Amino acid sequence: MNFDLNNEQKTWQKIVHEFAEKELLPKAREVDEKEEFNWEAVRKGGPVGLLGMNIPEEFGGSNVDYISNAIAFEELGWGCGSTALAFTAHNGLGTSPITAYGSEDLKKKWLPMVASGNNKLAALALTEPGAGSDLQGGVTTRAEKVGDEWVINGAKMWCTNAGIAEYIIALVRTDPKGGSKSLSMILVPTDAKGVAIGPAEKKMGLRGSPTHGVTFENVRVPLGNLVGAEGRGLQQTLSTLDAGRISIGAISIGLARAAMEATVNYARERKAFGQSISEFQAIQFKLADMETEIELARTYIYKAAWLKDQGRPYTKEAGIAKLFATEMAERVIYEAIQIHGGYGYSREYGVERMYRDARLMTIGEGTSEIQRLVIARRVLARE
Ligand SMILES: Cc1cc2nc3c(=O)[nH]c(=O)nc-3n(C[C@H](O)[C@H](O)[C@H](O)COP(=O)(O)OP(=O)(O)OC[C@H]3O[C@@H](n4cnc5c(N)ncnc54)[C@H](O)[C@@H]3O)c2cc1C
Repeated sequence: MNFDLNNEQKTWQKIVHEFAEKELLPKAREVDEKEEFNWEAVRKGGPVGLLGMNIPEEFGGSNVDYISNAIAFEELGWGCGSTALAFTAHNGLGTSPITAYGSEDLKKKWLPMVASGNNKLAALALTEPGAGSDLQGGVTTRAEKVGDEWVINGAKMWCTNAGIAEYIIALVRTDPKGGSKSLSMILVPTDAKGVAIGPAEKKMGLRGSPTHGVTFENVRVPLGNLVGAEGRGLQQTLSTLDAGRISIGAISIGLARAAMEATVNYARERKAFGQSISEFQAIQFKLADMETEIELARTYIYKAAWLKDQGRPYTKEAGIAKLFATEMAERVIYEAIQIHGGYGYSREYGVERMYRDARLMTIGEGTSEIQRLVIARRVLARE
């Protein structure tokens, strides 16, 4: 594994950093305060390639390698956690199942539309009011074949981007008998009759990223809207989440890095007992530990991304990367607030928002407990 980025990746990093600095960072506080979505930045992300990172060029995407995907999400997370989450739910969850499993017709019809920045985004609805971690046993949203259509009934919960999406890919039960081959992915246009999208949830953090409950009541879509194979929805979901976990880990690194940068500046300027607090060894050790954690997390995120780019198995590594990077971000931003003292608890300073934003990362796309299960299963399966 080459630990240095290649020239293309370095250029991409510079482009996305400048984009995040110009389009995300200046509005990060406002989107959080007002619970507003930064549409302007997302639209501008289309021509930069940020809406088609997992889409082949022939369908309007930028189709970057996965290390570049991780680079982009670190920079976007550095700029604004909320907007970064919208980008990752769109790319990793909403478009990549179509790229990986969708028919040519689905690819042609939907991917160029959502990659352009001129239209709404994409979303994936796995979680339900009664089931998140246990999708196999818990999904109750049902799709039945009636003539040449699927008829869908049920409710989804916590769907990022649902209210700003052209379509939602829904994980549905197509075989009522249950089991690992009873779920399928079906693309549902958000303007289909019977789709109701609830109001944006009131959240602790990531308040500029709209999250909605969605209900399907006798929603009819063509049989051709099946994404991938009937009965393979669970396997397709697990594979989609492996990749998505690298992006969530990368956003966490971006949040931790932003907090670190703010803290270094603050520590240099703040005076106590007649000197800059950065001269206290207790503060220096905290900064050293924070930097160490960020660097380690990034190295491992790149390893998981590199394995994916090589076409090698990476489920365990994606689990380790997400587990470490997301829990690392909490530790680092906790210390960032501590070093800011009382000001760290104020909304005037960004570290408070970053802490709230980072809190989701150990929950979404598989909780820390589920990552530990994924890792332990592979450790115990060793000969
Ligand atoms: C802001 C936000 C955005 C989201 N976006 C999306 C989205 O776009 N699409 C989508 O489908 N979902 C989304 N989610 C849902 C998210 O993926 C789920 O919340 C998550 O997977 C956990 O599911 P749950 O909330 O049902 O918790 P549960 O599965 O009920 O888990 C509750 C607790 O039990 C633990 N637990 C469960 N099973 C086990 C086990 N076997 N062993 C040990 N511990 C266990 C969990 O780790 C957790 O601590 C989002 C959630 C939030 C908050």
